[in-house]
Amino acid sequence: MDDRRIRKTVIVGGGTAGWMTAAALSRLFERQLEIVLIESDEIGTVGVGEATIPQIRLYNAMLGLDENEFVRRTQGTFKLGIEFVDWLRPGHRYMHAFGGVGGRDLGLVPFHHYWLKLHRRGHAGPLDDYTFNAVAARRGRFMRGADVSDSPLSNVFHAFHFDAGLYARYLRGHAEARGVRRCEGRVVDVALRAEDGFIEAVTMDDGTRIEGELFIDCSGFRGLLIEQALKTGYEDWSRWLPCNRALAVPCASGGELTPYTRSTARAAGWQWRIPLQHRIGNGYVYCSDHIGDDEAASVLLANLDGEALADPRPLRFVTGMRRRFWHRNCVAIGLSSGFLEPLESTSIHFIQSSIAKLVQFFPDRRFAPADIDAYNRLTRFEFERSRDFLVLHYKATERDDSEFWRRCRGMQIPETLADKIELFRSGGRILREREELFTEVSWLQVMVGQGILPAAWHPMVELLSDEECERMVEGVRRVLENAAGVMPTHADFIARHCAAE
Ligand code: FAD
Repeated sequence: MDDRRIRKTVIVGGGTAGWMTAAALSRLFERQLEIVLIESDEIGTVGVGEATIPQIRLYNAMLGLDENEFVRRTQGTFKLGIEFVDWLRPGHRYMHAFGGVGGRDLGLVPFHHYWLKLHRRGHAGPLDDYTFNAVAARRGRFMRGADVSDSPLSNVFHAFHFDAGLYARYLRGHAEARGVRRCEGRVVDVALRAEDGFIEAVTMDDGTRIEGELFIDCSGFRGLLIEQALKTGYEDWSRWLPCNRALAVPCASGGELTPYTRSTARAAGWQWRIPLQHRIGNGYVYCSDHIGDDEAASVLLANLDGEALADPRPLRFVTGMRRRFWHRNCVAIGLSSGFLEPLESTSIHFIQSSIAKLVQFFPDRRFAPADIDAYNRLTRFEFERSRDFLVLHYKATERDDSEFWRRCRGMQIPETLADKIELFRSGGRILREREELFTEVSWLQVMVGQGILPAAWHPMVELLSDEECERMVEGVRRVLENAAGVMPTHADFIARHCAAE
């Protein structure tokens, strides 16, 4: 058989997506693949994107990064989940925490069915009280999962908050050490092959022509290759997720170093709060149909925990995804592939997941259509199901105090989401299909948090008497509370293990 291996890959873009891709491919291909990364200092990067989900630990481990060093180098902190404030109604709060809900596995019937029966009768507190990461987060505690058998301490699931610019720089060091060649400058032209429309080369502003066999578009929202050159098309999801702008501003740290992201609903969108070691990242994600930029900036600046460290930075976006993520010899990774607002911190994960799928379906020079189709199908599935999860937060709300929230409450939702809500509402069941990113416990916490309570619980719950059920559920609460009590505070943990110099 001929050797049809791809010898040269060109990555256009050096934001989080570009450098994550370069670091991963250079690690996996060990100099057997020539990798060139082009980035423009003049254009710069989006520069936000600071909250993650636990899967990023797999990516970092694949690169061989030491976790404490990574946290130190990126001014990072630990994240146990997201707190949603005022989303159901003003004054209400709940957690979407990583990890499980309840205690040990109870067999076939998930814990929440037992909780539900008691909660309905007023004999159990909010679901957060039975979710270990939420209990620890509310107390400001953090430690890594420890090898303590039969204890919740063995079940801490964490992700990170970090400075995305520092992360990209850190990965650049790793990638360059493994042979990635960086070219600084602007791409001003993309040449397509006459016979099949494949990308042949890009030309830089100084006239340099860079040829390649596989092109990876990490150029951000503009989609320089996938859209501007290949005209692949975009599916617009604004009818479900109408927010289209954000203002981002860092502020000085204040108060306790919380081990979670906070998302607070506002009149025309929501505000994020992401604690780092040296500052707090904040932003207002809003819909321009319902609030002007100046008013959004005033709301944001009036709701910071410390002094603003810069002027609010505007960002515009259209929620949705590319019609194809991989087209001909071009794969779009990062913002060029699509965008979901950062409500559940999915973007960096999508980068990681795209890299994993690219490796799984890594092409040879034939660019087999079946492989490309499979890649596109899997990526579409991941985007669509994650979109449904975000839409849930907006749709299931009691808020009717602004036009924006009335619009969200009244909108038609995707059928896949309507089915999920109906299944849960009728009998407390959640079905995770195929490789959906968000697991049953994620859906559970957000559905309950957003006020969806099932009409019935699993019939097998009745096998326990009321007293047995109460004893079991209360026992879980106490065990979680006690275990959280022995954890160090988040600030102490960082000071001891990974404080930035
Ligand atoms: P960019 O950062 O835009 O990088 C694009 C690169 O392409 C740059 O290097 C640029 O110089 C280069 N480039 C562009 N055009 C050219 C050209 N002509 N020639 C040469 N180079 C070029 N994600 C999360 O996971 N968690 C979050 O909390 C989160 N918050 C977010 C908040 C907001 C408001 C937004 C908008 C995004 C957020 N994201 C978040 C997403 C996250 O920021 C991005 O997924 C991530 O930064 C990847 O961006 P990127 O590398 O695709 O694009």
